[in-house]
Amino acid sequence: MSLIIENVHLAPVAGPEIPAGWLRIEGDRIAGLGPGPAPDAPGAERLDGTGCLATPGLVNTHHHLYQWASQGLAQDATLFEWLVALYRVWAAMDAEIVRGASAAGLGWLALSGCTTSSDHHYLFPKGRGDLFAAGIEAAREVGLRFHPARGSMDRGESRGGLPPDEVVEDLDEILAATAEAVDAYHDPSPSSMLRVAVAPCSPFSASGELMTQSAALARDMGVRLHTHLAETVDEDEHCLEQFGLRPVDYMDKLGWLGPDVWLAHTVHLSDADIAKLAITGTGAAHCPSSNGRLGAGIARVSEMLRRGVNVGLGVDGAASSELTPLAGEMRQALLFQRARYGPRALTARQALELATLGGARNLGREGELGTLEPGKLADVALWRVDGPYAAAVADPVCALVFGPALPLVRLLVGGRTVVADGELRTAPQDALGRAGAEAGRRLLERAGGAA
Ligand SMILES: [Zn+2]
Repeated sequence: MSLIIENVHLAPVAGPEIPAGWLRIEGDRIAGLGPGPAPDAPGAERLDGTGCLATPGLVNTHHHLYQWASQGLAQDATLFEWLVALYRVWAAMDAEIVRGASAAGLGWLALSGCTTSSDHHYLFPKGRGDLFAAGIEAAREVGLRFHPARGSMDRGESRGGLPPDEVVEDLDEILAATAEAVDAYHDPSPSSMLRVAVAPCSPFSASGELMTQSAALARDMGVRLHTHLAETVDEDEHCLEQFGLRPVDYMDKLGWLGPDVWLAHTVHLSDADIAKLAITGTGAAHCPSSNGRLGAGIARVSEMLRRGVNVGLGVDGAASSELTPLAGEMRQALLFQRARYGPRALTARQALELATLGGARNLGREGELGTLEPGKLADVALWRVDGPYAAAVADPVCALVFGPALPLVRLLVGGRTVVADGELRTAPQDALGRAGAEAGRRLLERAGGAA
């Protein structure tokens, strides 16, 4: 496969932008890019990028795909209230629900420019089929690069945790199932379409023992670690009360800070917490829409960036962000930071970098993803910036980040077309939407009604 996109505005994220240039793809890799007319390449497909902006494909570093099936519930709740209301609903899920919800969620991500997504699945009710495999099947169908995290909870109410005992698992079962998931699916190769991470859910639902054993398992198997951290003031209070430490100090004590760890949210950080993340190379997945929906607060992203913490973006589960497209999280991040710190807090280019290279670093893929550079994987988003309204904005990166979602002309994952002219080409778009809606109906019916 050989493709040249010509007459296009290139925002490679690494290196200077090229206002009128070309990008050449050979197989699953970027072969070259440059200004001016494209060089001759006999046999290559040529795509006219006039009026388009090419960026690296966006990378989503925090999600719970199954939550597509439980949107719009507990609308005015705090995180803890929302979780307590929804654990009961989620307890009714099965593999069919996860399959439908994941297909809809991944299709939606593709349509918003996402080429790589993580997924944090942490509820495994017994006897309901292979829930972890269901998400992987959906990712294969839609054609996105996938980083599923085998999540877990072992600290139910009776052990001082937040979830009811019936939705948590036993420590040994978790460790065995997690090792099995890594063995079965993790592909460490540079072109990998699928890498597995290890991800106990949070300090208020996973025991210290589960956290330390999970870290040992992940490091032994050479995979990454992920969890939720410092999302709300309630979590701060819970950690102080139960462990005598605030969340970042607690994770430090458990050996959970390091370059192989990325943490979702990190909203409530002290200066010392930010310094710890920077020194240890621990990454952060910023999920502004979800933080806004749950009234959790605004993460100190611009301060984290200034002090050298890697930050990527995440849409978080659809149950706390409702249909949020990944491209929209760039805008949301920019607006949140400016609302908190003023107009110079985050630029459009920085927001694009969070969504691309920042995400790739969180997933340990910065050598292969996150920028448009020769030799990297051909994960590319081509946005139309000369539409009836966007054409009035002189700067295409500004149009992409400051404005509403732009139409996608093409989305390539490893050179393969996943979206063309705003439509999914790998899977029937309408059928995915219907499968997501059906998963929601089935889940609520099985749960005996809404939360
Ligand atoms: Zn989450």
